[in-house]
Amino acid sequence: MPATVELRGRAAAPGLARGPVHRIVDIADLQRQSGTPGDERIALESAIETATADLATLIADASSDGADILEFQVAMLEDEALREPALVSIDSGADAASAWSATVAEQIAIYRAGDDSYFSARASDLEDLRDRVLSHLLGAGAQQDIQPGAILIGRDLTPSRFLAIDWSKGGAIALSDGSPSSHVAMLARSRGVPMTVGLGRIPAATFAEAIVDGERGRLLLDPAADDVASYTAALGEAATRVAQEAVVLKQAAMTRDRQPVAVLINVAEPEELNTIDPAICDGIGLVRTEFLFDRPGGLPDEETQYRAYAHIMQWAAGRPVTIRTIDAGGDKPVPGLTQDGETNPFLGMRGIRLSLAKPDIFGVQLRALARAAVHGDLRIMLPMITVPEEITAAAALLDAAVAQLQAENVSAKRPKLGIMVEVPAVAIVPELFKEAAFFSIGSNDLTQYVTASARDNAAVADLNDAGHPAVRAMIAHVAKTGRALNIDVSLCGDMGGDPRHLPVLIAAGLRSVSVAPPLVGRVKLALRDIDGGPSA
Ligand code: PEP
Ligand code: MG
Repeated sequence: MPATVELRGRAAAPGLARGPVHRIVDIADLQRQSGTPGDERIALESAIETATADLATLIADASSDGADILEFQVAMLEDEALREPALVSIDSGADAASAWSATVAEQIAIYRAGDDSYFSARASDLEDLRDRVLSHLLGAGAQQDIQPGAILIGRDLTPSRFLAIDWSKGGAIALSDGSPSSHVAMLARSRGVPMTVGLGRIPAATFAEAIVDGERGRLLLDPAADDVASYTAALGEAATRVAQEAVVLKQAAMTRDRQPVAVLINVAEPEELNTIDPAICDGIGLVRTEFLFDRPGGLPDEETQYRAYAHIMQWAAGRPVTIRTIDAGGDKPVPGLTQDGETNPFLGMRGIRLSLAKPDIFGVQLRALARAAVHGDLRIMLPMITVPEEITAAAALLDAAVAQLQAENVSAKRPKLGIMVEVPAVAIVPELFKEAAFFSIGSNDLTQYVTASARDNAAVADLNDAGHPAVRAMIAHVAKTGRALNIDVSLCGDMGGDPRHLPVLIAAGLRSVSVAPPLVGRVKLALRDIDGGPSA
C-alpha cells in the first residue's frame, strides 16, 4: 500500500473526520473536445435537458419557498431567449461551452444593470443555471452528487456551494487555498464541519480516503493503518472532551473566581437552530442576515424576512437576540446589492454604507425587524459603522419604518440600535459613538483592518492574527470605554470562541462573548480555568 500523503496547512474549523475523498472540480479548469456545429448543438441541448431534469428532482424534494426558486430557474432554462443566442453562436463556429457561457454572461449583465435591485438580484439564479449546464456539458455532472460524510478537497469552496451540501451525516473540507477567517470557514465552524485551509498544492493522484484534522490543520490522504489508529485514538480523546463539555454546556458560564460571563451564540442560518437547545446559551449575540440575501431567488421581501426573524425569536423564547442588518460586500457579494468591480471591496461599499445607499432595501429589512421585535428581546446591530452620523441616519430610517407600521396598524416595536465595533476608527474613539445602545466587537474585521491583512488571503493569514498587541489594546480600550459610558460591550468575532484568546478578553474586562454554537461547551470549560480578577 502506498505511503500516506500528509499535508499541513492552517486549522479553520475544529474537529476530526475520516471519509471518502470528493474532489471539488473548478468548472473553469475543465475542458472538452469540441465537434461540428451539429455535435455542439446536440451537446448543449442535452446538457440543458439534463439540467432541467436535475431541477425537477430538486423541486420534488424542496420546501415551498425553495420550489418557487427552482421553478423560476426551470422557466429560465426553457426560455428560448436564453438558449437561442447560444445556438446561433454555435452555428457560427463557437463550441457549446463557450457559446453557453457567453450568452448567459450577457443576460447576467442585463439583469445586473437593471435599476430594480430585486430584479438584479436574480442574476444569481442565472449564475447557478450557467454552472449547472456547464457541469453537464463538461462531464462534471456527477460532481453535484456528494456522498454523505465525504471529505471535500479542492482549491477553494464558495459559501453558496457549502450551503448546498448536506453536512448532517458528517464530512470535512480541506483546501489548498482559503483562509481561517473567510466566510466559508465561519460557516464551517458554525455547522461543526472540520476544515483545514492553506494546504498548498494537493497532489492530483486519485485518493480513496482522507482524514482531516481541523484542530491542527492537517490532511492525510490514503492514511496508513497507524494513521487510522492515531485518528481513532484522537477521536476517543475528542469524545472525552465533548463529554466534559456536555457537563458544563447548560450551566451558567463563569470564571475560576466565579465571575459570571454571558456566552451567546452566532447564527448564520436559522436552520442551524433546529438542532440546538436554547438552554446552552444566554441568547443570540449575532445573527448574520446575509443568509437571506445570497440565496437563489433574489432579494427577500418583507414577509420572507419577517418569517425568518420571527422563527429565530420564537426559538430564543425571551433570551436576547441581536440581529445584524445586512453586511453585504467585502467577501460577501450579493447580486443586486453589492457593486461589481470595486478595486478593494473590503474598503468599499459594504455593511451599513451599502444599506444607507439603498434605503428602499434597507427599509424593508428594518420593517421586518421591527415587526419581529414584538416576539421578544430583539436588538438591531449595524455592521461596519465608521462615523457616528451613520448611526443617526439608520436610527432615523428605523423610526420612520416603525411610524409607518404603526400608521398601517401593523404590530411592531422599536428595537434598541447598537453597533459592531470592527472598524479601527470606532475602536480608537468609541466615546464618539455614544448614540449606540451597545457595542459588539467584530474581531474578524477589526483584525484584518488593524493588521492590513485580508481575512480571505492565505498568503497573509499569519499576519491576520487577533492576538496582535494592537488588536488587544483596541479591545481593552473599547471594553473600558463601554464601562465608563455604561454601554454594554460584547465580542462576536471568532476570537471569542478560541480558548487561546479568552484570558486576554477576560483581562480586558469583557464579560460577554458570542461564539459559533459548537464552541459553547469549549468556551465554558476554558473560562473555568481563567481568573476574572478585580478589573471587571
Ligand atoms: C467580525 O467581523 O468579527 C464579525 C463578527 O462579522 P463578520 O465575520 O460577519 O464580518
Ligand atoms: Mg465583520
